[in-house]
Amino acid sequence: MLKLTGVSKTYSGGVQALQDIYLDVPKGMFGLLGPNGAGKSTLMRTIATLQQPDQGAITFDGINILQDKTALRRTLGYLPQEFGAYPRTAAFTMLKYLAALKGIHSSQQQQVVENLLVKTNLWDARNKSVDNFSGGMKQRYGIAQALLGNPALLIVDEPTAGLDPAERRRFQNILAEVGEETVVILSTHIVDDVRELCSQVAIMGRGRILKVGEPLQLMRELNGRLWTQVVSRDEVAAMRARYTVLSTRLKAGAMEIRVLSDTPPEHMQPATPELEDVYFSTLISHNLKDNLE
Ligand code: ADP
Ligand code: MG
Repeated sequence: MLKLTGVSKTYSGGVQALQDIYLDVPKGMFGLLGPNGAGKSTLMRTIATLQQPDQGAITFDGINILQDKTALRRTLGYLPQEFGAYPRTAAFTMLKYLAALKGIHSSQQQQVVENLLVKTNLWDARNKSVDNFSGGMKQRYGIAQALLGNPALLIVDEPTAGLDPAERRRFQNILAEVGEETVVILSTHIVDDVRELCSQVAIMGRGRILKVGEPLQLMRELNGRLWTQVVSRDEVAAMRARYTVLSTRLKAGAMEIRVLSDTPPEHMQPATPELEDVYFSTLISHNLKDNLE
C-alpha cells in the first residue's frame, strides 16, 4: 500500500535524519519503534507531505506522494507529536469546523462528528473546551480530528507518550478498531504499544531502519538465545562486562538481568523472548544502546 524507496533527509544543521529508507507498509497497524532522535517524526512528516526528502520516492495506493501532495492529503489523517487546539472552543464545535475545512458536506457534518465523538469516548465531554481536556482526552480528540473524512492512511506520532496505563489501553483499542480498515503508522518508543497492536514493526535508529518484521516472528528469532538470572546489584557491572546484557529489572531488591548469548551462560535460566528483547538487542547490535542506563 505505502512504499518508500531510498528516502533520505539531511537537515541544514548536518543531521542525517533519514538515511536511505526502504519500507513496504501493508494494510493494518504498522509500528515504528525507536529511541528519541531516531528520525520517526521526520519520517512521518515526510510521508504526510509536510516536508520534502532530499532523495527517494514514496507512493501510496498508486499516488506518487511527493509529486501529488493534494491527492495524498485528501486521504490522509495525521496526528502530530504535538498539536494545538483553538482555546476555549468546545470539542464538538471544533470538530464540526474542521469537518467543514476538510470538505465534508454540511448535511453530513453533524452525523460524522457525532460518530467520531462516540468512537473516541468523548461524547460526554463534547461541550467541554479541548484545552481543558486531560492528556488522554486530548489524544483521543486528536484521533477524532485525524479520522475526519475516513482517511485510508492514518499517521499517529507518539500518541501514547504521557498517558496513564488505562488511557493508553483505551487509546490502543480505538487504534486497533481503525487499523482493521486502514493503513495506520504508529510511532512510539513504548514497546508495549507495538506488541499489543501492530501486525508489523520497524525498529529505527539514527535515521535507519534496523529491522522489520512481524513481532511474533522477530521474537521467535531469539528463541534459545535469551537467558536470565537474578543477581545482586553490585554484580551487574561485572555481568555487563562479560555478557550482552539486554536489560536489567529491579526485583525484590535484587536485579533480574536478561542476557543474549548463543551458548548457555553459567548459572542462567532460559528466558522467553519478548518484543522488548528484540528492540534492545537490535539497538545494541548497532551500538545504539547506552549500556550504562
Ligand atoms: P524522533 O521523532 O525519532 O525523536 P526526529 O525525526 O524528531 O526523531 O529527529 C531526528 C533527528 O533530526 C534528531 O537528531 C533531531 O535533533 C533532528 N531534527 C529534527 N527536526 C529537525 C529540524 N527541523 N532541524 C534540524 N534538525 C532536526
Ligand atoms: Mg518524534
